[in-house]
Amino acid sequence: MPFSPRLAPHLNGRILTPEDPGYDEARTVFDAHVDHRPALIARVGGPDDVARVIADARETGAELAVRGGGHSPAGHGVCDGGIVIDLSALRSFELDSAGHTVWAGAGLTAGAYTVAAGRHGLATGFGDTGSVGIGGITLAGGIGFLVRKHGLTIDNVLAAEVVTADGRLRRVDARTEPELFWALRGGGGNFGVVTRLQYRLHPVDTVIGGLLVLPATPEVIAGFVAEAEAAPDELSTIANVMLAPPLPFVSEEWHGRPVVMARMVYAGDAGAGRRAVAPFLALAEPVADLLRPMPYPDMFPGEAGPRRFAEARAMFAGGVGTRQAETILERIGESSAMMAACEIRVLGGAMARVPADATAFAHRQSRLMINVAAIYDPSTSERSEHAAWVGGLAAELDDGDRGAYAGLLADEGQERVRAAYPGATWQRLAAVKATYDPDNVFRLNQNVPPEA
Ligand SMILES: Cc1cc2nc3c(=O)[nH]c(=O)nc-3n(C[C@H](O)[C@H](O)[C@H](O)COP(=O)(O)OP(=O)(O)OC[C@H]3O[C@@H](n4cnc5c(N)ncnc54)[C@H](O)[C@@H]3O)c2cc1C
Repeated sequence: MPFSPRLAPHLNGRILTPEDPGYDEARTVFDAHVDHRPALIARVGGPDDVARVIADARETGAELAVRGGGHSPAGHGVCDGGIVIDLSALRSFELDSAGHTVWAGAGLTAGAYTVAAGRHGLATGFGDTGSVGIGGITLAGGIGFLVRKHGLTIDNVLAAEVVTADGRLRRVDARTEPELFWALRGGGGNFGVVTRLQYRLHPVDTVIGGLLVLPATPEVIAGFVAEAEAAPDELSTIANVMLAPPLPFVSEEWHGRPVVMARMVYAGDAGAGRRAVAPFLALAEPVADLLRPMPYPDMFPGEAGPRRFAEARAMFAGGVGTRQAETILERIGESSAMMAACEIRVLGGAMARVPADATAFAHRQSRLMINVAAIYDPSTSERSEHAAWVGGLAAELDDGDRGAYAGLLADEGQERVRAAYPGATWQRLAAVKATYDPDNVFRLNQNVPPEA
């Protein structure tokens, strides 16, 4: 047995084994390629449970996975035959509205957090998807709709509670165990199980937000990127170049033709927001203009995104001009996927004003993040064909920024993990790992082995 029978009676939370109803749902993660069957899923009730499960896994030698929202592109939130620490029951939200801070349970999703904070006209920036877990995205960095105005998610983390491999619950911040606090902000799940996080909240109430769909020509794509870079920090954009799907708000003549589908958030005064989005509307006659004043949480419609078969490659880049835009348009037309897209996020702003060595996320000066993705139907096409398409376009767009984003890494090998943590960041993370997890108990992640 890969876990001790003594474990169950001592947990406050719930244990799920293959015989239990709910087991299949609990082992399901977002990436549809992943179909692992853990021996046991421990839906922990708090740090004491976490410490007991860690001790048991160490004693029995069972593999240990840590699951928040289950969105790891590498499927790291579940394992085959081992134990999963499932944090989904840790959903506390203890707001100090006067101080604009909150202690949030690591099992919350970004969407649930945003809705809870939104009731007070406050927000912390996560990513673009409500069902992503706040634990996973925060430990990776967190690049989303408020990145230019309020920085990465980690730039708004004030403290964390973490159970380390020795079973100790540690409360860490910039003064208490500062090296561990540094490593948690970008270094992923390498250092322990985070049970609660304290965040800074910002007044973000009504934003100018929503979707703008433009015809995709090389000039429009390059112009969009240039305008997004020139825009005030209040404006963050996530633009997908893709063939227009048959959505109700896209007129039929546009279905299947190349468009820029941009989600945009201006977090500031409405009048200034209208002025900030005007240059984008002037790039071409919009296919659809759904930009409007809206409560910020409306940017996260619904919680449960469908599981999907996808091949994707995320990378940082210095720019997208008309030459790269031409390449993107050409390749998008060649993909046989159900949906092929090249997502472009313009970075900069508050994120870039934090020194690169202030946290374990080192890519502060990269101007763009690009994510090439193919979502496909495995009954009609082969994974390898989509992987080749994704890899090909990513290689063509590679302009020498070697960085990788840990949060969007699939199982891409050690070289890519090192690309996420370049140079001195790697050495420093390996040293922190040697202090807090010398036996590499937490290795089912984008792993930084302990310094020898
Ligand atoms: C559809 C989709 C959209 C995304 N959008 C964005 C985006 O806009 N911006 C962005 O920055 N990223 C984005 N990501 C990447 C995402 O932030 C990371 O994959 C993140 O790690 C997922 O967290 P999770 O808790 O949902 O996943 P899980 O699979 O549950 O966790 C991922 C890994 O993180 C670690 N982990 C999670 N929680 C804890 C914890 N409490 N303590 C210790 N370790 C933990 C574990 O190693 C775990 O294996 C997206 C991913 C997907 C699939």
